[in-house]
Amino acid sequence: MARVELKQVRKSFGSAEVIKGIDLDIAHGEFCVFVGPSGCGKSTLLRMISGLEPISGGDIVIGDEVVNDIPAADRGLAMVFQSYALYPHMTVRQNLSFGLENINTPRAEIDAKVEEVAKMLQIDMLLARRPKDLSGGQRQRVAIGRAVVREPRVFLFDEPLSNLDAELRVDMRSEITALHRRLENTMIYVTHDQVEAMTMADKIAVLRLGALEQFGRPLDLYNRPRNLFVAGFIGSPKMNFLAGRVSTQDARLLELEGGETVPLPADGFAQRPGEAVTLGVRPNHMTMAEDGPAGMTVRSVEQLGGESYIYGTLANGTALTLHLPGQIGATIGETLRVAPKTEEVHLFDTDTGLSLRRD
Ligand code: ADP
Ligand code: MG
Repeated sequence: MARVELKQVRKSFGSAEVIKGIDLDIAHGEFCVFVGPSGCGKSTLLRMISGLEPISGGDIVIGDEVVNDIPAADRGLAMVFQSYALYPHMTVRQNLSFGLENINTPRAEIDAKVEEVAKMLQIDMLLARRPKDLSGGQRQRVAIGRAVVREPRVFLFDEPLSNLDAELRVDMRSEITALHRRLENTMIYVTHDQVEAMTMADKIAVLRLGALEQFGRPLDLYNRPRNLFVAGFIGSPKMNFLAGRVSTQDARLLELEGGETVPLPADGFAQRPGEAVTLGVRPNHMTMAEDGPAGMTVRSVEQLGGESYIYGTLANGTALTLHLPGQIGATIGETLRVAPKTEEVHLFDTDTGLSLRRD
């Protein structure tokens, strides 16, 4: 069983602390995605788990064992990188066999294993080729195959699809999740792409500036983001944010900067009169309504046939996006009355960024 547990894991490069005490518990067999903006520490954290990067503090537990001082080669992990890192002078078969030869696996066993994995990844007809004679997608399959033949306890992927074109990326996403269902190993997958995270993960760890912002199932993060950062990062197009102050007369009213007043949910959030709060509302939870509380000046319109996006600004300059089903037109420069669906909004403390949701 290969559960992966991080306990107050830290990393500094010189005086710069880039991983700031992360606690995380990844269950055996889970597909866990680390997601966050470029530079937030995803690769560093993955390399620390792999043993390629020494840790500066805390403990890393794999299975039941603290592995802090165990070399990378002895941790029972396999890593797949964005750059494939195949040996250019070797054939696909040799690239797949290499790791097993190194640990003196008998020839017949290597051949059987390589054939099986090549078939599983649909590269069995490419075994005699060299990497330069493969497409990007085929190379990435070989890189994955090389990890699979080693039968690791845990797979580590660092942005493995970033070099592929959009269509292939979508195909490979479902191939990797199918591989996970078949092998039932623990997998840790790094990406900066929240769509990849949402579609592939059992659990998502959202990282920012070396700290864990939230860890949970994709829809839990989408439905109940615990702070403004997660709310803005998960979901596309981005959640709209309207800053204002809870009315001192009535805690169910939000007075926006610039004077308009938007209703707040009657319960569910712990807002106090006079408090500076930020209302979050996803573009698909905005409606156009003649008596809508806010006036939005239209800046651009995208009609995709089945759905429409309307982009605009409120009188106070706040940007706003509406995502509406069907073919909805609007004229650039006109002012529409719009309303958030009150039962769908999120509410955050503007100063701390934390959600004001009660439970
Ligand atoms: P991500 O993979 O999320 O884009 P990284 O883990 O590569 O982020 O980097 C996190 C931070 O650590 C960045 O600020 C980066 O510049 C810094 N960093 C990474 N590796 C080194 C290193 N070897 N020496 C100094 N700083 C590093
Ligand atoms: Mg990286």
